[in-house]
Amino acid sequence: MKNIQMVDLKGQYQKIKDHVDASIFQVLDTTAYINGPQVHEFQKNLESYLGVKHVIPCANGTDALQIAMMGLDLKPGDEVITADFTFAATVEVIALLQLTPVLVDVDPKTFNIDVEAIKKAITPKTKAIVPVHLFGQCANMEAIMGIAKAHNLYVIEDNAQAIGATYTYSDGTKAKVGTIGHVASTSFFPSKNLGCYGDGGAIFTNDGALAHKLRGIVNHGMYERYHHDVVGVNSRLDSIQAAVLNTKLTHLESYNAARLKAANAYDKAFEGHEHIVTPFREGSVDNHVFHQYTLKVKEVNRDALVKHLNENGIPCGVYYPIPLHLQKAYKDVRYKEEDFTVTNQLVKEVISLPMHTELDEEQIEFITSTVINFVNKNS
Ligand SMILES: *Cc1c(COP(=O)(O)O)cnc(C)c1O
Repeated sequence: MKNIQMVDLKGQYQKIKDHVDASIFQVLDTTAYINGPQVHEFQKNLESYLGVKHVIPCANGTDALQIAMMGLDLKPGDEVITADFTFAATVEVIALLQLTPVLVDVDPKTFNIDVEAIKKAITPKTKAIVPVHLFGQCANMEAIMGIAKAHNLYVIEDNAQAIGATYTYSDGTKAKVGTIGHVASTSFFPSKNLGCYGDGGAIFTNDGALAHKLRGIVNHGMYERYHHDVVGVNSRLDSIQAAVLNTKLTHLESYNAARLKAANAYDKAFEGHEHIVTPFREGSVDNHVFHQYTLKVKEVNRDALVKHLNENGIPCGVYYPIPLHLQKAYKDVRYKEEDFTVTNQLVKEVISLPMHTELDEEQIEFITSTVINFVNKNS
């Protein structure tokens, strides 16, 4: 059996090596390392793949979120509602811009932001909601957009984990996630569903005026060379990363299909187990692109399971072990523990198994039987 990895970047690379290497050497040959033609090409390719009017490439997913918020002219003290159960980047940029993060609980089945909790958290100071499509599954965008409309709020989708997922509205129409809110961000960190070979990110929007503004913000606030109209940042996707992404974007659908296939095999092996809860899938099959395959284990010592898997050569992850509202940097006297019962429970039960495009049946069989044997003996 091949060594099991959490993410098999090398196996994936080997299959596209010739193409990717040639595209990287082309950048080296032309020395257009910054803003080379590959960047514009990738922007256009991603716009057409997503069906969104504007893609603004930038340096990473955290910058993408920050710049999206800068473009919305939020003011210090404005409240921004987001999920307690996500990667810290989401809340970090809110705090960094001196906005007030308002963390709320998540849904116990989908792990995504709880719509009722959003409603409860809205105050006259609320200006925006940041849903995160966690682990690859779309948040409940129809309900979130409805709340936003009723309260005149912006919606900024953190789409770092779900690129390629498709949201289905109740009338059956579909849209790629990241094209539904007023603006969205994504990350091309190597292990993400569409990963480059370094850092990268992008912002998406259908709003032409906002897109124009964001293009200036990523480039030192310049709309005309050496005229700085707004305070900006320096955040670029470099040409080599764009070249890699141009090749990988053509494989994204098959990459996500491979993840789905692995998720289906995991689901089948764990089906009906009384102590193992497989990921709940909401709506249609394309709603989830399995950035992570995350189980909940019940009446089992999760940390002992992690240790056992590691000892058997199976890497795994606990995303996320601490709720954001309990992190030193993001504590707030207004938070009450009874408002975070779901997150507080999830951090004890979740475990993410290896998930990538190169998993084979033999590996999945070994992983699932190792998990089941341990759980059967220790529950
Ligand atoms: C990865 C990630 C980010 C940040 O992306 P970087 O490119 O690493 O800056 C933001 N939000 C979520 C939910 C993520 O998973």
